[in-house]
Amino acid sequence: QAAQARLDLEEPQEGQVRAVPVLVPLALEEAYDYQPPEGEAPPPGTFVRVPLGSARRIGVVWGAARTADVAPKKLKSIIEVLDVPALPAVSRRLVDWVANYTLSPRGMVLKMMMSAPRAFEPEGPRFGYRAAGPPPDRMTPAREKVLNVAADGAVRAKAELAREAGVSAAVIEGLAAAGSLIRVEMPPPRPALPDPEHAPPELAPEQAEAAGKLIDAVRRGGFSVCLLDGVTGAGKTEVYFEAVAAALARGQQVLILLPEIALTSQFLDRFAKRFGCRPMEWHSAMGAAERGRIWRAVAKGEARAVAGARSALFLPFADLGLTVVDEEHEQSFKQEDYVRYQARDVAVVRGKLGKHPVILSSATPSIESVVNARQGRYEHVRLTSRYAGAALPDIRAIDLRADPPERGRWLSPALVSAVRDTLAADKQALLFLNRRGYAPLTLCRACGYRIECPQCSATLVEHRARGKLTCHHCGFVLPRPGDCPACGVSGKLVPCGPGVERVAEEVAERFPDVPAAILSSDFTTNLSEVRETIARISSGKARIVIGTQLVAKGHHFPGLALVGVVDGDLSLAQGGDPRAAERTFQLMQQVIGRAGREESGGVGLIQTHAPDHPVMRALISGDRDTFLAREIAAREAAVLPPFGRLAAIIVSAGAKPEAERYAQALAKAAPPAARIEVMGPAEAPLVLIRGRYRYRLLVKAPRNVDLQAFLRAWMDRAPLAKGSVRVIIDVDPYSF
Ligand code: ADP
Ligand code: ZN
Ligand code: ZN
Repeated sequence: QAAQARLDLEEPQEGQVRAVPVLVPLALEEAYDYQPPEGEAPPPGTFVRVPLGSARRIGVVWGAARTADVAPKKLKSIIEVLDVPALPAVSRRLVDWVANYTLSPRGMVLKMMMSAPRAFEPEGPRFGYRAAGPPPDRMTPAREKVLNVAADGAVRAKAELAREAGVSAAVIEGLAAAGSLIRVEMPPPRPALPDPEHAPPELAPEQAEAAGKLIDAVRRGGFSVCLLDGVTGAGKTEVYFEAVAAALARGQQVLILLPEIALTSQFLDRFAKRFGCRPMEWHSAMGAAERGRIWRAVAKGEARAVAGARSALFLPFADLGLTVVDEEHEQSFKQEDYVRYQARDVAVVRGKLGKHPVILSSATPSIESVVNARQGRYEHVRLTSRYAGAALPDIRAIDLRADPPERGRWLSPALVSAVRDTLAADKQALLFLNRRGYAPLTLCRACGYRIECPQCSATLVEHRARGKLTCHHCGFVLPRPGDCPACGVSGKLVPCGPGVERVAEEVAERFPDVPAAILSSDFTTNLSEVRETIARISSGKARIVIGTQLVAKGHHFPGLALVGVVDGDLSLAQGGDPRAAERTFQLMQQVIGRAGREESGGVGLIQTHAPDHPVMRALISGDRDTFLAREIAAREAAVLPPFGRLAAIIVSAGAKPEAERYAQALAKAAPPAARIEVMGPAEAPLVLIRGRYRYRLLVKAPRNVDLQAFLRAWMDRAPLAKGSVRVIIDVDPYSF
């Protein structure tokens, strides 16, 4: 009887209507109410098409239907329920969490979950061709090739058939017109199923012990985080693959997040070797059709293993059983525009919401993760030696004060002779400089003018091969001038300092007959080119490699014995950023960790003016733990992350006084809060970017303070941002 009464209550009365909240992927905070279509109200998670203003949008039902006090005429109706798997509850809770934590409009976070528009369009039929009928009257060599391939009777897509036969698509069409091929509908492609038993490796004892802990976490189920912390070349991938196998064996889905996934075809091959097929990929270089296909396959649970960039976290996994974050310390896991989130942290939150384990893997874990492990929130699983007993590289400093390069050169005599010895031993050498282009600065020797970007507070970087100066912040391009733009004197412009291109020039002069490769985004216009360069390096064809940080990313180059760091001081000198030491340590350790991975005897040489700097000393002694302990103590003393919470507020405007005035007004509007400190405003580290002047406020709070609530209260009281003023909130900024 009670149930009956409740039902009656729920029936809309006069002046009332059934309403369903629908969230649309736009910069909106809340879901809007709509009338359900005839019959049942669609349950939460359902994708629906709704009218919004004069447009139609696809949105998601965000909550249960309820009775609202609105006249039926006032509420627009859902137009259509889409035939797409519902957005799982965990995904919806993740949207809410990310929106709340990053102070982003909820609709913008939902937008990241819907970043495959084709997934919401009906899947059209696919057609392919198979052999049929008599051979054509007119036979050509090309046609013969196609018919030979098609002779097995299988159905193939047009592109596939053309590729296998090595002919153009027009040949296929011709054969179809002649009746020798027939066009038939093809079943939708099914993702290949990775097989956990395909090729289990033989693990070294230390690996087996580590794998056992990870597998236990998967079999136990439920939320947990493991920090897989093992030296470069320890075989961490093989170890976490065993946890992946355990999750796959339970029929669950697995997500592996990788930095620069687009570059790591090596990783995909290793996965295929272990599991019999490649994982599905997810990154920004994929086409729209493929994105749609993968999104659906993930939602239906058909895609069992996904290897992706940070955005893969927002795929609608039907039954995710494990997330691995490889190279968890990587800066690129922090998204710096739109919704500013840290993918490693979101992966952990996703694990908590979805009650599944998370593995964070790195040879140089972030301070955040090390502290979490020390405090017992994460299980710390360590691998202390390289696989197959290879020794870690021997790291030494080259003191540039005592052993400088010749004028106008960048490689010291010691480094040059080390390269020579390496080549003589038939090994490869890598010269690392984290600076693209030819020279970071062009100076006029007549008047002292430095060529700067008109839109940014930065000098233009010369790219000699392209004959251009460009801005690395906004993309501004200037053809390389002959005369000084300031004083007009010609022939007095000189490049100052090195970029990879200039180091490559020096290498070509010193080692004219040695094949070299440059691995930098400068010299590679597309993905396949980068992959080709990487292949040329791992196969040993390139003997000397000159690279930016692209070379530090988890690659395995078997013949590499020497890593020379051209400028060890470069990333240390980043104006007062407390994270500079950590970042430098990680970068050096990773790039030098490419050396000597298969045979011992790898060497790392760091050119530096400060061999006694704590970072250099830690690298040389290999004493990571002392270095980390010092860094952690410093962070704790300053109540910096992970011991305190931090947010940056960036105020920008087209004119400097406008930005400054607003930033000051904003600072004054901060609500009083005893334990929260607001610092600034001060000019942001790069005051001008893309023609906008930027001021920064930093907000610091102890861990147990609700920083988001404070920020929200503050923004509610903020003065109206007029004109060109814009405000961006960055919770957990990467540099601080
Ligand atoms: P890490 O990621 O820890 O730096 P990798 O996982 O890349 O190390 O492993 C280093 C190398 O050792 C790779 O070539 C890998 O294939 C190989 N390797 C690691 N463990 C094993 C194993 N158990 N059996 C065979 N090869 C292994
Ligand atoms: Zn000049
Ligand atoms: Zn610029």
